[in-house]
Amino acid sequence: MSFSSSDLEAVQCLLCRADDAEPRFTKDGLEVVRCRRCHLLYVNPRLTAKALSR
Ligand SMILES: [Zn+2]
Repeated sequence: MSFSSSDLEAVQCLLCRADDAEPRFTKDGLEVVRCRRCHLLYVNPRLTAKALSR
């Protein structure tokens, strides 16, 4: 699976809105990061809704 850069968007932490995360691992070509404040794991950058609908 591959994505173009227009399919990705940078996001802040979904929980605390911090823009302070460290990379953890890569899954299906997407980077999973962990928020340094609340330790939530999330994908960043994530696929846009438009890309997901494909
Ligand atoms: Zn957070």
